[in-house]
Amino acid sequence: MTDRDRAASCQGPYGGEGDPGDCGDPARFEVARHRRTPLRVCPVHLGPSLLLADAVLWPPVVILIR
Ligand SMILES: [Zn+2]
Repeated sequence: MTDRDRAASCQGPYGGEGDPGDCGDPARFEVARHRRTPLRVCPVHLGPSLLLADAVLWPPVVILIR
């Protein structure tokens, strides 16, 4: 797996720093967070990450990245 692939993998559902998560699916959305790097998630984890990840903005700001 290349760095580029890793960067585009889902970090859901919790988006912990340095935690790759246990999903590994390609990320399709980027969730904006307060003073943290945006969280990249797959469609399955978009909903859970909005509710469970740290520092997610509310109302959510979600960007489609691919
Ligand atoms: Zn996922």
